[in-house]
This record gives sequence, C-alpha cells and structure tokens, in this order.
Amino acid sequence: MNWLQKFMYGRHGTDQLNIALLVLYMILALIGQLTGLWFLYYLGFAVIIWSFFRMFSRNHEKRWAENQVFLGIWSPISSRLLSLFRHQKDKTHRYFHCPKCKATLRVPKGRGKIEITCPKCQTVFVKKT
Ligand SMILES: [Zn+2]
Repeated sequence: MNWLQKFMYGRHGTDQLNIALLVLYMILALIGQLTGLWFLYYLGFAVIIWSFFRMFSRNHEKRWAENQVFLGIWSPISSRLLSLFRHQKDKTHRYFHCPKCKATLRVPKGRGKIEITCPKCQTVFVKKT
C-alpha cells in the first residue's frame, strides 16, 4: 500500500464531480450494453478517462474550480430530488407551495378542505388535504 500512497501524494484524488463521472460512465455503459449503441461505449470511455485525469491531476486549483461549477449546478437539483423523495415518503402530511411566496408548507393529511395560512407572507388559500 505504501507505493499507492507515494503515487497519490500531491494528486487531486476524488471529489463529487469524479463520483458523478463514474456514475455517468456506469449509466452510459449500461445503456450501451442494453441497446447496443456503440457510440455510448466511446462516450463512456471518454468520461472514465476524464475522471482518471482529474483523479491523478496535480493542479488542485483547477480541479477544485471544476468541482465548484459542478456543485453549483448539481446542488439545487439534488436538494429538489431529495425533498421530493421525502415528501413522497411522508404518509401523514401533504405539501403545498404558497401561491404568493412559493414557500413549502406541510399540513396534516385527511382533514378535508382546509384554509392554510402561509407563516411567511400570511397569504391564505384553501386546499383539500
Ligand atoms: Zn407565502
């Protein structure tokens, strides 16, 4: 293991973008395998080469900047997906968005038609729970 530590010393290693690239590679390889589209293999190969290049790169600043750009795009998407998943799992509440300020409001399920008051902007609207 010592040779690996010596080899990786001063190199960028892995980050969120690299993990995303590996996942993208696996998706491309799987779709390529299932559909027989040869260009997906080459695209996946390019993605994995890029991932290895980033992993072994010694230019930390540039790799860090790339990762920040990726996180700027991915973070809003992932938090939206996560909240969607959480709302789907919650069987005792319903989630609504305030028509005025778009705040997410959680109300108990099974109460029929209720008047909901947004705690942020005090807008009142009626929804069926
Ligand atoms: Zn509101």
